[in-house]
Amino acid sequence: MTPAGEQLCYIDAYAASVRASIRHVETGETTLVVLDRTVAYPGGGGQPSDRGLLLRGSDGRAWTVRGARKADGEIVHELEPDDGEPPAVGDDVTIDLDWARRLALMRTHTALHALCGVVWRDYGALVTGGNMEPGSGRMDFEFERMSGDLVDAIEASVNVELAAERDVRVDFKPRDEAFAIPDLIRTKVNLLPPGIDTIRTIEIVGLDLQADGGTHVANTREVGQIKVTGYESKGRINKRIRIGLVDPRSAG
Ligand SMILES: [Zn+2]
Repeated sequence: MTPAGEQLCYIDAYAASVRASIRHVETGETTLVVLDRTVAYPGGGGQPSDRGLLLRGSDGRAWTVRGARKADGEIVHELEPDDGEPPAVGDDVTIDLDWARRLALMRTHTALHALCGVVWRDYGALVTGGNMEPGSGRMDFEFERMSGDLVDAIEASVNVELAAERDVRVDFKPRDEAFAIPDLIRTKVNLLPPGIDTIRTIEIVGLDLQADGGTHVANTREVGQIKVTGYESKGRINKRIRIGLVDPRSAG
């Protein structure tokens, strides 16, 4: 097995483009392309995959990347099927993300972690899942006593934390070490499959620490402020909170 291509999204969330060489092309209903390195996020943890362009250096041809996913450890790019003749193995290309969309997703993802941090700190409620689009998202909690009044207080507290300009740090920890951190246990690190021996963590310093594969902004100031846009009961215990960025910029 050849080693997987370089996956820059996990190390440098601000890498918007990179030059790469095509390693593998598969044609069928859609064209699938693997590069020797990429900045594309393949989706996961509630964060949708990136979109963008693949540009070939030799003749300036461009293909639309309409999504990406993980398969056998590789990040696979899915090209728009109507873009004609596919690129070839060995072609030198640049992968260029739809950066406005990715940045909106990073701000949204970090906002959702701030929400988790506040709900855990102030109410001891565990998060059970979440999902997002650029500029908006939702989180589900085991939060029996959630109410409209609490939700208003949560919105205000999240905005205080975001305005506190907290750094957001990415780290990689050995599995055993990660298991010893109570904050990580609460976000269900114990549900990770046994094959994974390194755990990637995202820390909003002083507020939240989670095992997470997503891309985040480097400081909460980049998120701006959030608004709670809705909340629902999904049962006696399970509750959902929806948020949106107050300034979504070019989200969507
Ligand atoms: Zn996350």
